[in-house]
Amino acid sequence: MSSSTGNNTYHQHFDVIVIGGGHAGTEAALAAARMGSSTLLLTHNIETLGQMSCNPAIGGIGKGHLVKEIDALGGAMAIAADRAGIQFRTLNSSKGPAVRATRAQADRQLYRAAIRETLENQPNLSLFQQACDDLIVEQDRVVGVVTQMGLKFSAKTVVLTVGTFLGGQIHIGLENYQGGRAGDPPANNLAKRLRELPVRVDRLKTGTPPRVDAKTIDFSVMQEQPGDQPTPIFSFMGDGSDHPRQVPCYITHTNERTHDIIKSGLDRSPMYSGIIEGVGPRYCPSIEDKVIRFADKNSHQIFVEPEGLTTHEVYPNGISTSLPFDVQVELVRSIKGFENAHITRPGYAIEYDFFDPRDLKQSLETKYIHGLFFAGQINGTTGYEEAGAQGLVAGLNAALQVQGKDSWAPRRDQAYMGVLIDDLSTLGTKEPYRMFTSRAEYRLLLREDNADIRLTEQGRKLGLVDDARWARFQAKMEAIESEQKRLRGTWLYPNHAAADAINKLVKKPISREVNAEELLRRPEITYKDLVAIEEIGPGLDDAQAAEQVEIQTKYAGYITRQHDEIARQLRHENTLLPATFDYASINGLSNEVIAKLNQHQPETVGKAARISGITPAAISMLLVHLKKQG
Ligand code: FAD
Repeated sequence: MSSSTGNNTYHQHFDVIVIGGGHAGTEAALAAARMGSSTLLLTHNIETLGQMSCNPAIGGIGKGHLVKEIDALGGAMAIAADRAGIQFRTLNSSKGPAVRATRAQADRQLYRAAIRETLENQPNLSLFQQACDDLIVEQDRVVGVVTQMGLKFSAKTVVLTVGTFLGGQIHIGLENYQGGRAGDPPANNLAKRLRELPVRVDRLKTGTPPRVDAKTIDFSVMQEQPGDQPTPIFSFMGDGSDHPRQVPCYITHTNERTHDIIKSGLDRSPMYSGIIEGVGPRYCPSIEDKVIRFADKNSHQIFVEPEGLTTHEVYPNGISTSLPFDVQVELVRSIKGFENAHITRPGYAIEYDFFDPRDLKQSLETKYIHGLFFAGQINGTTGYEEAGAQGLVAGLNAALQVQGKDSWAPRRDQAYMGVLIDDLSTLGTKEPYRMFTSRAEYRLLLREDNADIRLTEQGRKLGLVDDARWARFQAKMEAIESEQKRLRGTWLYPNHAAADAINKLVKKPISREVNAEELLRRPEITYKDLVAIEEIGPGLDDAQAAEQVEIQTKYAGYITRQHDEIARQLRHENTLLPATFDYASINGLSNEVIAKLNQHQPETVGKAARISGITPAAISMLLVHLKKQG
């Protein structure tokens, strides 16, 4: 492992070097180290490990699903969110289980501390604080990195997760300056070097609202929004005992005066005066965007969210802006409850380099430089959860490569992570990509509640899941199975002692012999109600297992149908296409299809089918061609 070297080369040779200690980098480094690779996490500043650049919140619709999947594979995000969450909610709780999602408002400092503690206690992982300025590439393989002070680290693989820092340019009104995010330097040397590599680079932008001192806010005129009870839990390993004190959020609104102030400042807006060229997140627009795009609305909701338990700063979620500071002050003070508000940090927008993710394999290794993996915001995504998910996949694949093993990434029908990576590597993105449940075609299977059932066994095989998690998972699976068996074997009939209690719960009284599983299938009976009947109970204590029994029973028909559909799709999903191929040589393909296939060079038939404009007929011709080639 160690090698003796000159002054400027670090003595230890690493299996994996991860550059950047954000959300992608920490999951990447932890995953590689859990799999036994000697790993170095090289980051600008150890104090900012796990720093949330924007809103201190984890989860939400689609994003909560990713957090649970990261957890199912042994990652850190869910446990850190449980330890830092100060207001938890289950979004869409009145809707079906597929779209229910957990969200936690987090204490920023507690979150950072939880991530740092996890990193510092991870065997095989070393931390080092320095900016990485260069990659060492020999022929077409990365072999190490060089830091700002000229120190060289050598490694078999490198995972790059440098977020919004590459060529970062911060804008507040017509003023702009270089930065990676507020308070941090940009990574300009690295950006310059990466632009020399054969990867396509473009610019995106994102923004953040001004932060406000809670001591100057009148909460009494706002609507209080407490967390849910019982408090939701993120990690499959959690029991809620590590949640800190819970506090409420508040809701207020912009008004017509706010909108007039915004409109009056647009001539000094970097977005509307054409200074910012990068495309921003469509689903997380700035307040000036919302006022222009939804001109008929005279009010927008603002969630007033605490930044932590030991700070007075609040995050007004919904007024992200890059308007000049004087306009920010005026617009904030026009909002109900904010009349005397003091801004502690101005809102701003940031433009940064990102790489076209179509230049990546499904493993997140770059197609043109062996051993170099990209994860997080640099792949065109936005969000901590999207970054963490990619980091985990990149880190585990770097470790697999070191072990000389085949790469692995979940398929679209296995995980939102699979949807994310497949969307990025197949279709690319023109705007910051965020996850939604609507992006998945097999929503009913990709639920938050079953992320462990979908992924933990695979995680164990890969070496990502430790003994404690594995034992807990197995115990849960056994509990589910034996309870399902018990319900199937519990027979009830019209004269049964439990009949009266059952008939009180159901719309149609039981008129023939039924088992408890059949009863649970009825929409009006919950598992909790069913096992509360003395003759049927007592049921499971394990809440996670009980939830599975209920969902798997109630949705059995739909779930089976989705599995059948997946089996049909899979027949061609993984059929490989040649690595470089001129599709003009296939008879019958239209010019548009040829151009798209030649441009994307998809790895598999499944990926080809998901490129927009590629018709089922074109796929049939491809399959005929492949068959002929034998
Ligand atoms: P980051 O969290 O940015 O981490 C990058 C890490 O790399 C940092 O630790 C940095 O110090 C380190 N680093 C960078 N360059 C080097 C180098 N050369 N050498 C060593 N270390 C380096 N997300 C949303 O979902 N919604 C939003 O509204 C939203 N708004 C945002 C607004 C702003 C202003 C910013 C900056 C981000 C916003 N985000 C938002 C995005 C969210 O913060 C990111 O998606 C997420 O943090 C990306 O994680 P990451 O790990 O890819 O990068």
